[in-house]
Amino acid sequence: MSTPHAARDIDTSRPHSARMYDYYLGGKDHFDIDKKAAESVAAAYPGIFVCARENRAFMHRATRVLAREHGIRQWLDIGTGIPTEPNLHQVAQAVVPEAKVVYADNDPLVLKYAERLMRSTSQGRTTYIEADVNDPQSLLDAPELAEVLDLGRPVALSLNALMHFITDAQDPYGIVDRLLGVLPSGSALALSHCTPDFDPSTWEKVTAIYTNAGTPVQFRSQKDVARFFDGLDLLDPGISVGHRWRPDAPAGDATPTDAEVSLWTGVGIKR
Ligand code: SAH
Repeated sequence: MSTPHAARDIDTSRPHSARMYDYYLGGKDHFDIDKKAAESVAAAYPGIFVCARENRAFMHRATRVLAREHGIRQWLDIGTGIPTEPNLHQVAQAVVPEAKVVYADNDPLVLKYAERLMRSTSQGRTTYIEADVNDPQSLLDAPELAEVLDLGRPVALSLNALMHFITDAQDPYGIVDRLLGVLPSGSALALSHCTPDFDPSTWEKVTAIYTNAGTPVQFRSQKDVARFFDGLDLLDPGISVGHRWRPDAPAGDATPTDAEVSLWTGVGIKR
């Protein structure tokens, strides 16, 4: 997409989380500075590649379960990341072609690639909003959101690998409450979140690398991740390590360890 506005805003003077994540996933949309920071994370935590892959796989399964078993036809995906196939709308529209998806991210590089997020089925629809989750009201007030989502019907709020970039000082639980607050009964929260629970010393190093690179992070315990689901009906199997949330295939020899994955994941439904 030709977006001079986005090109102007791309900051290559420091690593960015979306571009580091693209490196973990084997993508090409990052700069040397991102690769260097990502490599230092990988040196401290070699499981990061497994974590990133399992995080995507959780998003795919959660999206399909919500579409197939819970009648969800609309998604609000915040912290979308640089497009990686299949993107959420492709997973959803493979199950329900009429699925609608609003994507939002605050990294201008993601905006630059937004056209890839907007190739939809003819029945479905997608759009992209450049927005910061720290300002949920502006995000919800975006005209593009109202054009695509019918807030009178259930919406799945998808926050994958996002909320660990929101520290307690930024009121992460209040933000999620505000977002869920405008969604009707039958809506869902699908969330994944990195955790230090299985290997605290490694995650201390990862925290230091991100923080020193100018990206504050707060990786949370299972109990603190569970708080995001307060008041929702948690789907089985509850807050689980990513690869254990409704796996497609029975666990085999290649099953990663909980420490490699180091992600809490869950899906809850609003009453
Ligand atoms: N959800 C995708 C990508 C996760 S990477 C997935 O799970 O595969 C985290 C993304 O969150 C990055 O694209 C980053 O730019 C975005 N992000 C970080 N802080 C944000 C904020 N305050 N508001 C919106 N997006 C944010």
